[in-house]
Amino acid sequence: KHDVLSGSQVAERARLAIPGGVNSGQRSVPGLTDLVIVHAEGARFRDADGREFVDYHAAFGPPLLGHNDPDVGAAVAEAGRTVDLCGVGVTRGEVELAETLVELVPSVEKVLLTSTGSEATFHALRVARAATGRRLVVKFQGCYHGWHDAVSLNVISAPDRVGGRDPISTGILPEVLEATLVLPFNDAAAVRAAFAEHGHDIAAVIVEPVPHNVGCLLPEQEFLATLREECTRAGSVLVFDEVITGFRHDLGGWQKLSGITPDLTTMGKAIANGYPVGALGGRADLMELFSSRPGGPAFFAGTYNGHPAVVAAALATLRKLRTEPVHEHVFRLGERIRTGLADVFAGLGLPALVTGFGSVFVAYFMTGPARTYDDLLRNDAAMFIGYRRRLLEHGVFELPLNLKRSHVSYAHTDADVDRLLEAAEAAARAQLAAGAPVGDLTGASTMGGAVR
Ligand code: PMP
Repeated sequence: KHDVLSGSQVAERARLAIPGGVNSGQRSVPGLTDLVIVHAEGARFRDADGREFVDYHAAFGPPLLGHNDPDVGAAVAEAGRTVDLCGVGVTRGEVELAETLVELVPSVEKVLLTSTGSEATFHALRVARAATGRRLVVKFQGCYHGWHDAVSLNVISAPDRVGGRDPISTGILPEVLEATLVLPFNDAAAVRAAFAEHGHDIAAVIVEPVPHNVGCLLPEQEFLATLREECTRAGSVLVFDEVITGFRHDLGGWQKLSGITPDLTTMGKAIANGYPVGALGGRADLMELFSSRPGGPAFFAGTYNGHPAVVAAALATLRKLRTEPVHEHVFRLGERIRTGLADVFAGLGLPALVTGFGSVFVAYFMTGPARTYDDLLRNDAAMFIGYRRRLLEHGVFELPLNLKRSHVSYAHTDADVDRLLEAAEAAARAQLAAGAPVGDLTGASTMGGAVR
């Protein structure tokens, strides 16, 4: 009976049965509260009211091949005909996936599968503390590592709270938050100073090598090298959270591109093109601390870990990424978009910084540079959100929330890019002419206590 209901009718029922009407913190977007998705394929999705969008939001990153990739879908269907979940022993698929990750990702000597990225980062920090017997974790302003307590602060802060410690949720023990130090990204001196003061007590440094949760801050090589040096010297565990960068930017992740090898790596998103797979891999001596016994040096478990259907999705995704020119295609389109958008905004005399890497792009409405989260406070949030709301009118979907990145997939075409650039010009022109944001922006520019 849902089929005959309008988007607003289904959304109304959702709000009655589901808190906030959605199942993840940033799926409810001001101005888009009646969005009920009914179909997704390739580069597009459609809603219950028959609106079709070319999708650059890409579910926050997984569908690098495009939505509902037929090869991935076929592999999942085939897996469903053989084994579902037995919860004992191991399957051939899990072994093949583990061996593939060991082969592809430089830091990975051994690897465990989870269902989500959050579980992978949770266990990275647990095993770092188990290995070192230390208390503190270091993270960076603007980086998101999942919903669990130790990393739930200073992701996107409201401007008046920047510099303060800004949890994304209540209900977290203060002593947990106090055990996390937050440093500015790309600030090697701050890293050295933190290690000089607390090095003996730092269990782990966790970092998005490219902080994509605030769009795109490109890392300076000296910064990443300093993380490696200080962790090695102090005996702390360096964790690269490659949940976004992994497989999308390179099959070996940012560590392959930068030549800087962390001790542990967390993976997710593009690994299985949208099916729920996360992974934690790294140095064999650290990974061996995990035991499947309660009370083992570090405990690791999960009913759905390594589920045959999602493992089949990951294997099919990685096979396609290795055998077809996926990266070549998305990098070329990404570059066309970045160059094209910069030209459009320059032509309109609109101050904009178009950045990104490979398949990821974001246009901040500010002048450069964008090295740290604080630099992004110069971004004109009303313009950023208003521009994206106007893109919707042209059938182009970039998430209309402040500082969100956009993605191209293997299913996007040059014609899609042409259309995006035309829409960009029209949307920016209209936004400039209106001289004001579209609609009510309340809650649209901060984390608002929620996560994506
Ligand atoms: N790390 C990073 C860098 C992420 O972007 C995310 C999700 N946005 C996570 C971890 C958490 O992954 P998940 O949502 O699958 O738990």
